[in-house]
Amino acid sequence: MDFSQELGWSTLLQHFGEDEKIKGAVTPPIFQNSLFVFDKMDELLDAMANHPAGPQHHYSRVSNPSVDLAERKIAKLEGTEACKLTGCGQAALTIAIMSCVKQGSHVVCVDTCYGPVKSLLSDYLPRFGVTHTFVNGSEIQEVVDAIRPETTAIYLESPSSLVFQMQDMEAIAKIAHERGISTICDNTYNTPLHMRPHELGIDLVCHSATKYLGGHSDITAGAVCGSQKRIDKIIREEINLLGSILHPFQSWLLNRSLHTLQLRLKQHEATGNSVATWLNDRPEIARVNHISLPSYPQRELYLKMMKGSGGLFSFEPKVQDPIKVKAFADALKIFQRGVSWGGFESLVVALPVQPLGYDSQKWIIRLFCGLEDAQDLIADIESAIHQLA
Ligand SMILES: *Cc1c(COP(=O)(O)O)cnc(C)c1O
Repeated sequence: MDFSQELGWSTLLQHFGEDEKIKGAVTPPIFQNSLFVFDKMDELLDAMANHPAGPQHHYSRVSNPSVDLAERKIAKLEGTEACKLTGCGQAALTIAIMSCVKQGSHVVCVDTCYGPVKSLLSDYLPRFGVTHTFVNGSEIQEVVDAIRPETTAIYLESPSSLVFQMQDMEAIAKIAHERGISTICDNTYNTPLHMRPHELGIDLVCHSATKYLGGHSDITAGAVCGSQKRIDKIIREEINLLGSILHPFQSWLLNRSLHTLQLRLKQHEATGNSVATWLNDRPEIARVNHISLPSYPQRELYLKMMKGSGGLFSFEPKVQDPIKVKAFADALKIFQRGVSWGGFESLVVALPVQPLGYDSQKWIIRLFCGLEDAQDLIADIESAIHQLA
């Protein structure tokens, strides 16, 4: 197939990198091997020295054909030269940050980012002399003011996955590049189908592929995408030295899931919009944090940067009594109580948050709308909402 021409997402998702039909198999086989053998010692030495990332694979810690297939498909979707898959999303985020810092570096990070990234910056990396500043991120000037001479990385997540705040990726990436600062973002919420941060100037685009990309709640996986030069360095250093790779079977499951990514995302988005719109009109709710609602405070940025939303959003009940909030979550029958999201099943999590800019701690309820029917999810919420009276 000619992939140099413009092709739609779903065509790429079905076929990119899958031209070679090994023994005629329509789906790629799983290369479940830890190492590769060579006829000649010279060939092995050449593979070790010159092709750590393939095409001549020699050891599955650094590269493997099953992993490579999913990596190349995700890089194609993100519009980056390369991608490296990791054992989970957090590994991808840690690796991306580690690849941009050395002793004495400073990182500017949005305070609404994924929680363990905040722990990495505030509790772990200071051991190695890496400092940080957390910013709200919705005002560009605040990000500029946080930059210091020793800043080497700016870390973004837009929208964030609890309170759904956005940053202007393009404006921040431009400022960073003028100062030689690397930019990293967590693109898990959007998937490349709804936003391609590399086109907006972001250097390293990361994913928790445990979520939409994996889509079936049966794997944990992560991805870091960027230029060949940056990814080669990550393979030589963080991947080779820290490990945390994705294994062939998980990579195969991930590629299997990518086939239906666009279909699933459309359904999550439509259902998420219906449920959020319904909740937005309810008297029990103070505010619904869903990026595609007309009432979303950063609507212009949403329309400028993104091609769609999804099934994940949160809301703030007027009643802030933790007992009532938890009773609501407990009364749901289709929405199950659990962390994570992006799979087939609807999930709920209730927790207190206080991002920068909030004057007090607030209980929020985060919903993930799975692939069930929207009217059933709404009926489920309707039958539990009296708990929030
Ligand atoms: C889940 C998640 C992560 C972490 O991914 P794991 O695969 O659980 O390690 C990072 N960022 C976001 C936005 C997430 O939702």
